[in-house]
Amino acid sequence: MKVAEDIHRLTVPMERNPLGKTYSYLFTESKTLIDTGVPTDSAYQGLTEELKLHGMKPQDVERVILTHLHNDHIGLAKTLQEYGAEIVASQVAAEKQEAVKLQQENFFELTVDETRLFGGEQFLQYLQRYRRAFRDFPEPLRIDRTLRDGETIELNGKEMTVIWTPGHAHEHIVVHDHADRLLFSGDHVLPKITSHVALHSYEDRDPLCDYLKSLDKVKDLDVDTVYPAHEWEFSNLADRIEQLNHHHRNRLQEMKDTLQDGPKTIYDIGSRAHWESRPWPEMSFWTKRMAATETYAHLVYLRNREEVAETKKDGILYYSLA
Ligand SMILES: [Zn+2]
Repeated sequence: MKVAEDIHRLTVPMERNPLGKTYSYLFTESKTLIDTGVPTDSAYQGLTEELKLHGMKPQDVERVILTHLHNDHIGLAKTLQEYGAEIVASQVAAEKQEAVKLQQENFFELTVDETRLFGGEQFLQYLQRYRRAFRDFPEPLRIDRTLRDGETIELNGKEMTVIWTPGHAHEHIVVHDHADRLLFSGDHVLPKITSHVALHSYEDRDPLCDYLKSLDKVKDLDVDTVYPAHEWEFSNLADRIEQLNHHHRNRLQEMKDTLQDGPKTIYDIGSRAHWESRPWPEMSFWTKRMAATETYAHLVYLRNREEVAETKKDGILYYSLA
């Protein structure tokens, strides 16, 4: 689909995921892609077919800009890198790749510790069965060139601004095309779903605070149309950001409401909260784990603002109303 002169949206299929696809944006003149899709054969085929419509092969891609390092964005980047494409991402992304190497060495232990800390003792036996899945991680993708917040890059002969938008991922960036009044928003702002904002126990951050600040950062950009990595394009960026702010305020209040009848663990709070995807009892352990990290991000935000109190007893975190 044509986005603007020499800019096209390519659809890269993503099976077994409710999102169904990742969009990759092609700047034909500078042979550059923003994001790539998942690392599967069907995604590679899909990307190849889409590139073909514009007279290109995967081997012709000279540069890949990654909004962030999640699998549905970087999946095909390694292949394109092997074909000679330069991989470009934020400075924070490059730092994260180094940290990931260290985490991978004891990722199973980190996950066990986190599950216990979050009050998920009942899942530990189950987790043991998957111990093997926590070994032999692939070498993290090498970032060839890094971008700083506010840096401009030239694509199709036009100046674009890179904006660092931590929250959904700490390394997340968006690309603002001033001339065409477009924003390539990655997963930072999507038209319908709210981006997953989560925190692991082995990270020391306040990602929800970062996320809300990052929404503010893009709210007043001179933009007619937003092109996200999933769902569909949309206008009225400021209105959508207002909705997202509202959503998180409600969510924070909901987390606090679960504490009315006494202190609770993160898994307890998660099990009492409302989830868009499916009810808590129907979630797999892995989905519950994602929900728990999202719950934790909200609790850390509340704790840092002294709206809830955090205590640790026998290696388990408890939250109560402050
Ligand atoms: Zn995504």
